Amino acid sequence: SRPRAAALSIVQRLVAAGHVAYFAGGCVRDALLGIEPKDFDVATDAEPARVKSLFPSAQLVGEAFGVALVRTQGIAVEVATFRSESGYSDGRRPDQVTFTDARTDALRRDFTVNGMFEDPLATDPAARIIDFVQGREDLQKGVIRAIGDPFERFAEDYLRTLRAVRFAARLGFSLDPATAAAARQQARYLGQISRERIGIEVLAMLTGPRPAIAVELLSQLWLDGPALNEDHAAPPLLFVAGLPAGVDAPVALAAWLLDRHLASLSTPPRNSTLAYHAAIESLCNQQLSRLITRWRKALTLSNENRDDTLSLVNLLSVALSWESLPIAKRKRALAHRLWPSVVTLLSCGSSDAALASLSRVIQEQSQPLFEQGVAPVPLLTGDDLIALGLQPGPAFKGLLDSLYDAQLEGRITTRQQAIDLLPGLR
Ligand code: ATP
Ligand code: MG
Repeated sequence: SRPRAAALSIVQRLVAAGHVAYFAGGCVRDALLGIEPKDFDVATDAEPARVKSLFPSAQLVGEAFGVALVRTQGIAVEVATFRSESGYSDGRRPDQVTFTDARTDALRRDFTVNGMFEDPLATDPAARIIDFVQGREDLQKGVIRAIGDPFERFAEDYLRTLRAVRFAARLGFSLDPATAAAARQQARYLGQISRERIGIEVLAMLTGPRPAIAVELLSQLWLDGPALNEDHAAPPLLFVAGLPAGVDAPVALAAWLLDRHLASLSTPPRNSTLAYHAAIESLCNQQLSRLITRWRKALTLSNENRDDTLSLVNLLSVALSWESLPIAKRKRALAHRLWPSVVTLLSCGSSDAALASLSRVIQEQSQPLFEQGVAPVPLLTGDDLIALGLQPGPAFKGLLDSLYDAQLEGRITTRQQAIDLLPGLR
């Protein structure tokens, strides 16, 4: 691959200059799993100034941390000097880094499966993987295990508790019991970590290959509360359980929000679209905007993710009342930008028989509506009404809506019919 070729050329250059240089971390893990790594990081004993002299265009992104960004063959590769870190007095950034050797660098990494190096120039295949932390064994067993004492490793950087969940979910691995216990013990300190970092991890796991496992683990480890800045909850997962891999963030957020907050109602809905409709309506009326604001802050959601999550919950409520909606309302819903996401969200809940059957009904009945066209050009516009001598005013929008409803329902199909309908609407 191109990223690999770029990183390889950097390793070759460093080695030719007399240094030790390896591929490091995630790319070694992924390659051993047969997954195409998305980027290749290089680790070396060359110190930043040396990297800079060998690659004059290198950007020292974190000189104190020993990280340089080297651009070659159109790819940016992180070249990091072997280092150890110590004294995490703010619970996230090391107070001090010391440049060291590969072994010590492996030991400061978070999980054994992330702590391996690969020597891409090794001629002996047995010497290719440099593994000081028994990462290969854990990779084989499918285990996420902290390197060293899990309690201390999480205390150095509480974000690692979320990273443990993300990697377990991403790879379909289990958590080593001592690692899980240490994460659970210190879960409450996650709130000390910056909200941006928390949000990035949580969104990555929700939109990754196994969102339901991620959510399950978050609750098991009591990380859900501090991550969302709300009380711990471990509700049965309905919508989350059906989330597909790689789903858009708003769908995943809406699913998680519904599972957490419908379960906390005095009568959680079950097996009836009417009950779900009523429950979501009461959620919308009472606390939804407050909840979304809380989640936006807790995860530093973009405005777009926040707005779309809110819209999705509202549109799901419309979908749940599908069978009682007139054609015009159905078409308006089908024309909504987020309709495909609502269809996904509803189908996520299809382990509930009522929701599954509603999904099927909507699927069947929307087909012919899409064929007719759900968003035709209006027969009359506001400008047309003004040209016809109507005064723009508060009633104007209602009039246009009624006209468009009539058009969507097929009661009028021409401009003249629309004009003829006007007196009856006023
Ligand atoms: P991804 O495919 O998600 O990028 P990755 O393993 O490459 O996975 P990164 O966050 O890119 O993860 O980090 C690269 C490597 O740096 C990790 O494999 C790990 O060895 C180390 N690392 C990253 N973040 C931490 C951390 N918070 N604590 C300790 N080591 C870390
Ligand atoms: Mg990476």
